[in-house]
Amino acid sequence: MNFGYREVCLDHDTGERHPESPDRLRAVRRALKECHGVQYVAADDADVDLVRDVHDTEYIEEFREYCEDGGGHWDADTVAVEATWDAALASAGLAVWAAESAGPDVPARQTPFALGRPPGHHAVGDDAMGFCFINNAGVAAQAALDDGADSVAILDWDVHHGNGTQDIFYDRGDVFYASIHEDGLYPGTGEIDETGAGDGEGANCNVVYQPGADTADYLAAIDEVIAPAIADYDPDLLLVSAGFDAHEHDPISRMRVSTEGYGAMTERMVSLADDCGAGLGFVLEGGYGLDTLSDSVKMVHEVFDGYQPVEPDDDVSEEARDVLDSLEDQGFGSK
Ligand SMILES: [Zn+2]
Repeated sequence: MNFGYREVCLDHDTGERHPESPDRLRAVRRALKECHGVQYVAADDADVDLVRDVHDTEYIEEFREYCEDGGGHWDADTVAVEATWDAALASAGLAVWAAESAGPDVPARQTPFALGRPPGHHAVGDDAMGFCFINNAGVAAQAALDDGADSVAILDWDVHHGNGTQDIFYDRGDVFYASIHEDGLYPGTGEIDETGAGDGEGANCNVVYQPGADTADYLAAIDEVIAPAIADYDPDLLLVSAGFDAHEHDPISRMRVSTEGYGAMTERMVSLADDCGAGLGFVLEGGYGLDTLSDSVKMVHEVFDGYQPVEPDDDVSEEARDVLDSLEDQGFGSK
């Protein structure tokens, strides 16, 4: 794969014992050293005007000044330092690069993956939250639309609901947002019946699973609900908001997705993008176990390098089945 990466993303210093630390990117880079076919690309900063197209101008100005003044605790767990502004613009720029360098004719081995931080999917139109300041995937989707794409789909498989991405595009028909997340976790949003509004009606799909959902449950969500819905929507670009905190050994969730499971999900994304004739790009979100994060990113890469992940042989749980049935009642899915 081609990995978008900038050193400045390490300068966003969240302090000791913060789970969203620069060590996350260092661990991923260390793991990728062992891999064949890894290329790094340093993209430009995101254009501030583009960022303002998905965020309120006053909020972006406030964030910039907050960093200029040295930063601090924006909220209980969202920390900024002076360098956070530069890191955030770089991180958003990497996501824009991923969107712009994805395309239906891009060889699989050159599929882009933006390895930026701070992450983005909790950042709403007018506020930072949940370790996120600029909604990287949102800015990337907007860049693709500005470049002539008719529509973009974002699948967010981070264990948390991407409330920011949902918020930004909830009433828009040009971005389809789908999320698989753990019920009861931060930020507590993302109900099944939130399906979009106005022009965006039917373009927001929340798969909210109980703690303990495993790879088979995640794959069923993709196979039975999300992939058919996105195929119907037929986007020009498919972005994956790729957090790896649903991993069975991630310290902050209770989901049980295996490393192989991330490979199996990646394969689904490849065939879905292919079915739609869409470009495919990945944007890093969360993932807080350094080993599980780096193993999982490496797994995504290896799928593009020809590795065939092992499919789970267990059945979909009854709890997950109920959720998928409810989503079908909302008009999503294959039945
Ligand atoms: Zn997360």
